[in-house]
Amino acid sequence: MLRIRGHHLLCLQFFEGKGYSERFVNNIENVVKRLRRGERIKIVRGKDDICSFCPHLNNGECTLDEKVYKKDKSVLKLFHLNSGDIVSWDRVVDIFKSLSKKDFLNICKNCLWKDICLK
Ligand code: SF4
Repeated sequence: MLRIRGHHLLCLQFFEGKGYSERFVNNIENVVKRLRRGERIKIVRGKDDICSFCPHLNNGECTLDEKVYKKDKSVLKLFHLNSGDIVSWDRVVDIFKSLSKKDFLNICKNCLWKDICLK
């Protein structure tokens, strides 16, 4: 089972092979493959299976964005999910498809990658 934090449910919708490092990108590609094969997701608080290979992770904490927990919370609210929930990727995609860009624009507005995702 994959462990995914709140805001990465949104990031994964837009992944197109770009990221902080080759190792980081390879890991996300592997996560996406596992999701597409039907592996379920446990929603976690804090570091997840994507953060594990991130150069911005230090002692289990994200050093890039101090507001990252707030972002996780906002995305989980939008997706009507909570930490500890177990969901399928298909359900996450269905929820995402029911949203409009306006729904998450505010959450993504300060992200480094927003120009790729929101184009
Ligand atoms: S930037 Fe922070 S939240 Fe994003 S993957 Fe890296 S450690 Fe995780």
